[in-house]
Amino acid sequence: TEACLAAIEGAGALNAFVHHTPEIALEQAKAADARIAAGEAPAMCGMPLGIKDLFCTKGVPSQAASRILEDFRPEYESTVTQNLWDAGAVMLGKLNMDEFAMGSSNETSTYGNAVNPWRRGKDEAQLTPGGSSGGSAAAVAADLCLAATGTDTGGSIRQPAAFTGIVGLKPTYGRCSRWGVVAFASSLDQAGPMTKTVRDAAIMLGAMAGHDMKDSTSADLPVPDFEAMLTGDIRGKKIGIPSEYRMDGMPDEIETLWHKGAEMLKDAGAQIVDISLPHTKYALPAYYVIAPAEASSNLARYDGVRYGHRAKLAEGDGIVEMYEKTRAEGFGAEVQRRVMIGTYVLSAGFYDAYYNRARKVRALIKRDFDAVFAQGVDAILTPATPSAAFGLGEMADADPVQMYLNDVFTVTVNLAGLPGVSVPAGLDKQGLPLGLQLIGRPWEEGELLNAAEALE
Ligand code: GLN
Repeated sequence: TEACLAAIEGAGALNAFVHHTPEIALEQAKAADARIAAGEAPAMCGMPLGIKDLFCTKGVPSQAASRILEDFRPEYESTVTQNLWDAGAVMLGKLNMDEFAMGSSNETSTYGNAVNPWRRGKDEAQLTPGGSSGGSAAAVAADLCLAATGTDTGGSIRQPAAFTGIVGLKPTYGRCSRWGVVAFASSLDQAGPMTKTVRDAAIMLGAMAGHDMKDSTSADLPVPDFEAMLTGDIRGKKIGIPSEYRMDGMPDEIETLWHKGAEMLKDAGAQIVDISLPHTKYALPAYYVIAPAEASSNLARYDGVRYGHRAKLAEGDGIVEMYEKTRAEGFGAEVQRRVMIGTYVLSAGFYDAYYNRARKVRALIKRDFDAVFAQGVDAILTPATPSAAFGLGEMADADPVQMYLNDVFTVTVNLAGLPGVSVPAGLDKQGLPLGLQLIGRPWEEGELLNAAEALE
């Protein structure tokens, strides 16, 4: 813990941690020492972690990297972080992210973006750590913490993990409680571990997961010993390669990496099969209707009354002006864009054309996966992202849809509620990390991680 606190002090330029909690960390570390001395040492005991700013942590600023939650210190602890503390883990502080987890580059954060510790060869240009869990990814990659929590609504754990050469797991929807995690799109959001190794992800998921009466979508299922499932044996497992993920204009390097990954799994005894997920091309448009729709509803609660920031009012301003001014000042441009898209697709005149249609597409995407799993496929191998980390500011003037294209390989997993993991799988020509994604059957994170270990 002390080594991590010192590393954090020295790494301010990465802008990964947005709040430091050294007093809490040292106190928790002492308590962990006492537990270890007493012979009681759960797996996470004494492990120093960073926590994404989206998790409510009692008495500690929890702002979802938004100005609208300025000075918000929750009265309660999220279930996932409470589970981690109960397992003996240590909180080093809160990690940078895109505002309300909306983004793929960390550039929508009210704190300014976190920076990827990796560079292209000798090039000094700073790169994005990805998003939205970019601070978590940068902190783990730069050894500022042993692991971090992330959340993934459309790829926000897996894409930053791929951009920084770490492991990022999005569990099955319902595996981890969403209670106390600031809501973005409630039917898609899921917390998960961001770690240096697959084994660490298995251990940390075990501590984070579990049924929670406070989240009606959390699954009432036992949490298996995920680590014990890492047997290293994947002989006879069927790994599917979906043809629809072979996109036009995909860089050769990604194609090569994908091929290499399949070879590695084959060498470990798995059987590689070609599969089809025919509705894949509709996933991104469906996601960018459903996620903003849910976000617009979730974000209605930021009204200047209940939390955080309230705009200064002029003489004669009423409650409507208070809402308008507060929300105009408190939300950044991307969040405002999502709220506008969301209210539009939910509006009476367009509900059927957009939201309802997107829900139907979502069901078809889920059915594609069900069909493939019913054919005996155990896991699906795809690239994690369409490129390596890009430069900070590079997308500033681009159409927002360019940024959304980052999620092309990851959103299907959220729409179908499946577990997916990004594993570092090699470097591109410029020396930047690239990730491969494995998608698993629902509730089979153990088997998924076991296969993922063969890619490490
Ligand atoms: N990049 C995606 C978005 O902006 C995913 C975000 C996430 O998973 N939280 O919506």
